[in-house]
Amino acid sequence: MTEYFEVHERDGAARLGELRLADPLTTPALADPVVEDAGSLWAAERAIPDGDEATLTVLPHRAFPAGTRDEVRESFRVDHPDVDFPAAAVVDVAGARDVGTDAYLLSDAAGFIGHGEAFRDAIVAAKASLPADAALFLSGVATPRNVATLAAAGVDLVDGTLARAKGLEGRYLTADAAHFLEDLAELPCACPACATPRSEFTRTDCAEHNVNALQAELRRVRERIRAGRLRDYLEGQARHEGWLTATLREFDDQWGYLEERTPILRDAEITAASAETLDRVEIKRFADRVTTRYRNRFSEQPLVLVPCSATKPYSDSQSHRQFHDAIEWRGHTVSMTSPIGVVPQELETTYPAQHYDAVVTGDWSEEEIGFVAEVLRRYLTRNDGYSRVIAHVPEDGYREICERVEADPAIDVPFEYTCVDHPTTDESLGELNAALGGEPAYSKREREHNTVRAIADYLIGDGAGDELFGSIRTTGRYPKLQVRTDDATGGRDGEPGEQLATMVPQYGTLSFTLAGARRWVESDAPTKQVAIDGFVPRGSVLAPGILDADGTIRVGDEVVIEGPKAFAVGRAEMSGPEMATSTRGVAVEVRHVEER
Ligand SMILES: [Zn+2]
Repeated sequence: MTEYFEVHERDGAARLGELRLADPLTTPALADPVVEDAGSLWAAERAIPDGDEATLTVLPHRAFPAGTRDEVRESFRVDHPDVDFPAAAVVDVAGARDVGTDAYLLSDAAGFIGHGEAFRDAIVAAKASLPADAALFLSGVATPRNVATLAAAGVDLVDGTLARAKGLEGRYLTADAAHFLEDLAELPCACPACATPRSEFTRTDCAEHNVNALQAELRRVRERIRAGRLRDYLEGQARHEGWLTATLREFDDQWGYLEERTPILRDAEITAASAETLDRVEIKRFADRVTTRYRNRFSEQPLVLVPCSATKPYSDSQSHRQFHDAIEWRGHTVSMTSPIGVVPQELETTYPAQHYDAVVTGDWSEEEIGFVAEVLRRYLTRNDGYSRVIAHVPEDGYREICERVEADPAIDVPFEYTCVDHPTTDESLGELNAALGGEPAYSKREREHNTVRAIADYLIGDGAGDELFGSIRTTGRYPKLQVRTDDATGGRDGEPGEQLATMVPQYGTLSFTLAGARRWVESDAPTKQVAIDGFVPRGSVLAPGILDADGTIRVGDEVVIEGPKAFAVGRAEMSGPEMATSTRGVAVEVRHVEER
């Protein structure tokens, strides 16, 4: 049970936490373990009162013989009647296990820093063995250049020992380089140490600068985590050192570790600035869910492929209004886009479909063409009921993608191309309109119902849309739809039925009511359930009150909360595995609750 560390925000595996010292420390942060003499791990932050009553069980990890490697070597713990200190256990990766302390210092960090695969394996293994709500501490390895990567992997605490030592050796560190001090004509920094004139700048000043630079980079990292945008930064930052670039890719290959820790929705925009954007969890997850959970329900209409627009959601853009006027509800519109892949019209508001910004448009790389073609191929393999595909796409990457998929022997639906030059010219739009001649139009009601079902598929799983919302009414105006039962049980005669859920336009998700939650629990769709103790939650459910949580729950998911005294519905603030192993923090924000 940790007492002094609590995670407040998450951005993938990176966390913004609070270490409750005399002056609370927001992590990821620098926390020098002053282990020489009788200082404690946290001695730099908080002095021990005079007198010798304090029993300091403090041993530097370096002091331990190699033969004890499989053991938890020692915990930094202070036993004193007037002082409460957090405790940290020094462990190596192989010996990492929960011993009930606030922080875990990995003693073998120096051995895996500098190697992408070894670093990833060590962090993933250590995190799997340690409680989710304890701080992970790497000592003697942080530099201004690597600390963003360390934080992104899930490291909460680092120290300044390496930065200081490098400075004393004459290495001047910045977020993008490690210079030889004597090579620098000017100091590219404005910290207090660097205010010293260049000619008088010593190695001691250099050591001080290095620690300042590390602190500044940690501030940047914390701000990025607050904004949910550490990844965007990392895609650029990781290029400054080979092993950091390798680490980014190694973690992307380890889908499960980052996926479990990545929210299913958030406000932050994704900036598609590099090839690595295609490997982000949010992008891969959307493509995965569209091709394994989503199912097209417009069975009579052809598929109309159109290019994406810069304006989001797409249907608000000038070009998509023009497509819409030509299609007149006679085709199922799916937008093609990099880096998302394909976006069926029902999911145009669903995160991250309206939360990304492509820096380069109209200029497709081979990776982008390959990625979008693969998603489209998988989409058509699953949704194989279309009579034909009308590709209303311009001549560049879009056309090449369509031709590649059309040529795939496993795809037997015929493709037609209606774009003469540019997709929005009168001639092109006329061709599109003519190609749809004779096709039946679907109703607004059908579109709204299918939107709700598609979002349920996406959120909950294959078939969930039909299980939960096979028979519904919708009220309100798209995209602020309200989902109701298709009878008058909840209202008087002639009025819409009981409300089950509301569509949330900014994330393209659903918020369930208690009636919706009950219908969900009673259905055959997979439920995201949180089992709680015998209390009635008000406002939020804290981690200690949770008995069990479904392992598939991700931050942002709708969850049903059940206990002996309450039935409730809310939104997850932690992943299921984190709920099950945490002893602190808000696990679920409760929306509706009912006493039992
Ligand atoms: Zn400086």
